[in-house]
Amino acid sequence: SHNNITLPTTTTTTTPHPPPDNSFRVMQWNILAQALGTNTDNFVRCPPEALDWNTRKFRIVEEMLTYLPQFICCQEVDHYNFLERVMERLGYCGVFMPKPDSPCLYLPNNNGPDGCAIFWDDTRFKLLTTQTRVVEVWHVQSNQVVILLVLEERSTGQQLVLLTTHLKARQGALLASLRNEQGKDLLAFVEQHCKGRPVIVCGDFNAEPSEPVYTTMTEASTGLHSAYSFLNDGREPTYSTWKVRGEVDCCQNLDYIFYTPDKLTVEGGFDVPSEEDLGPNRAPSLSYPSDHFALICDFTFKPQLDVEE
Ligand code: NDP
Ligand code: CA
Repeated sequence: SHNNITLPTTTTTTTPHPPPDNSFRVMQWNILAQALGTNTDNFVRCPPEALDWNTRKFRIVEEMLTYLPQFICCQEVDHYNFLERVMERLGYCGVFMPKPDSPCLYLPNNNGPDGCAIFWDDTRFKLLTTQTRVVEVWHVQSNQVVILLVLEERSTGQQLVLLTTHLKARQGALLASLRNEQGKDLLAFVEQHCKGRPVIVCGDFNAEPSEPVYTTMTEASTGLHSAYSFLNDGREPTYSTWKVRGEVDCCQNLDYIFYTPDKLTVEGGFDVPSEEDLGPNRAPSLSYPSDHFALICDFTFKPQLDVEE
């Protein structure tokens, strides 16, 4: 479903290539909470069968398994137990952090709160520590959460800090400034735990690149760059989500994979589906189980200079 950014255009393979040797693959994906997608999202162009959980759940898993990432960062997870059961069988471990007051809880036929989740390939990476946090704004807890994991590559002992979050949704200057404060809280949390290790921050930031939070996340002092901007000649893609809500065609870039370029190299990535792939009804659809598309890229650790004694 995704086109490979780095493969030559002459390729005819339909199976995505695995991550190159010594690299690890990261997926960032807002999978669309089942309770939200079927109740509040107003996806008027989405065929109802595309939102039937009995089959949609397998299309979500299919997307994950097509790319076999070492790390899967997801948002809007309201069926964590199902995903964990499947991923466990494939050698992954997972961590889930629900939102304190998930909107799913107020909806008919909900399956509990939605939240963020991270799955990792336990055969390649060992978990060292798990930190979860309710994101604070002006020293008050918000309804957004973050998961931070410290992991170690089993074969090399290389350590990595991986975070995921789903920032406050909706438009407007006040909410853009709230997201910016959430970004600052996130960066303080990274600072507290990274201890000089390579960092990857994946999330649905609910913010276009023009918003203050994007600038905050990528300011020189953070040491973070956007992987998709790097892969796309210094510009973010045009969209990471494309849906029709009521009368409105919503095509926005809201999802990011930030990383520390002094410690990690982006080796390649996969494009989001083209406008032609999506068709006029956009997503979700029977081809794309969420209104957000998975961002997927491959990293290698940069060799670090040994500190002189
Ligand atoms: P957010 O504002 O961050 O949004 C929650 C979800 O709504 C996101 O997953 C977002 O998806 C989605 N969303 C964004 N825009 C739209 C849209 N135009 N139409 C439909 N869905 C959209 O939520 P909060 O975390 O602040 O939680 C919402 C609040 O609802 C909670 O605080 C809860 O207390 C409150 N609430 C609801 C009640 C109810 O009866 N409905 C009752 C009491 C409280 P994406 O990120 O993909 O854009
Ligand atoms: Ca959503």
